[in-house]
Amino acid sequence: MRQQMHAHIRPQPGILDIALYQGGTSKIAGRDDVVKLSSNENPFGPGDMARQAYARAGHDLHRYPSTDHASLRAALGAHFGLDAGRIICGAGSDEIISFLCQAYAGPGDEVLYSQHGFLMYRISAMAAGATPVAAPEQERTADVDALLAAANKRTKLVFIANPNNPTGTMIPMEEVARLADGLPAQALLVLDGAYAEYAAGYDGGAALVDQRDNVVMTRTFSKLFGLGGLRVGWGYGPQHVIDVLNRLRGPFNLSSMQLDVAEAALGDAAHINRSLTENARMRTWLAAKLNAIGLATDASYGNFVLARFRDAAQADACNSALLADGLIVRQVGSYGLPEALRITIGDESACRRVAHVIAAFMEAQP
Ligand code: PMP
Repeated sequence: MRQQMHAHIRPQPGILDIALYQGGTSKIAGRDDVVKLSSNENPFGPGDMARQAYARAGHDLHRYPSTDHASLRAALGAHFGLDAGRIICGAGSDEIISFLCQAYAGPGDEVLYSQHGFLMYRISAMAAGATPVAAPEQERTADVDALLAAANKRTKLVFIANPNNPTGTMIPMEEVARLADGLPAQALLVLDGAYAEYAAGYDGGAALVDQRDNVVMTRTFSKLFGLGGLRVGWGYGPQHVIDVLNRLRGPFNLSSMQLDVAEAALGDAAHINRSLTENARMRTWLAAKLNAIGLATDASYGNFVLARFRDAAQADACNSALLADGLIVRQVGSYGLPEALRITIGDESACRRVAHVIAAFMEAQP
């Protein structure tokens, strides 16, 4: 986007330094048989119950939505075994991340995250006027010692995604608890659980939130529930944090359609189970295929795998080969991983196509 500097009207310091977030590409010129594997979307789309709720919600569009989201929060509380009074819903978990930065960080404050962490932490920190700080990772995995070493009296927020995007790695709950224990008293730890459901047996950090007053969890309907286009996310935290975030939240930040469809999706056990089972099956299959042709992957706990190539040039060339075949995956240079490609786990036919094209590409490598 072209930068237009006005002679007199200027935004807050730091805003013009924000690099725009690039979403996953979805089109290739001249092709209509494209498979999009660049945004970690559920290949099965929304479930039947969500689709039906979407059709029903159209009849009530003249009505303002609920301001307190009580029905969706109650459903989330029942589904995940949480106190509905300490849930806040937003336009994607992006909005919760933004509320957290606006509420807790400003000029002179630091927002800490791990090296290959989700780009919105940096963007939202800068939008709030705070300074983003990245702590190094070990083997593409968050490093609690490095995060603790980087935390100081200016640190107001610490973000880690568990499992992380784009690496797919995660750290055990004991390590997360050690991080929460070791942070300075004024710092709030945010556990981003956008992919939590895909990690079998993991509660996204909900139990830790209940035990402490300095931990918040963010979650989303965009991944497992197949509703990335609907924009519904939520946060769960101590009462003092939720009360603060609600002051920033617009009274009608979610439409009645968003609220109703998300609630219906929570009740669609068949769709949830199918999505989880197929993701686990094809994730194992694709990782094994990639490993067999000499591409390293870390064990992924999400709905994607990160394939590592010899170098950035090889990753780039493989990306071109995939595009030539109508397959769009994600280049992750902006995450500091130019030698890797992040591939969303599609349905079986998409995974087979990806494996086939990458195998042919590697075969032809000198
Ligand atoms: N956190 C992580 C780690 C993500 O990968 C994403 C989506 N790419 C989000 C948060 C935001 O998702 P949404 O706003 O759709 O809930």
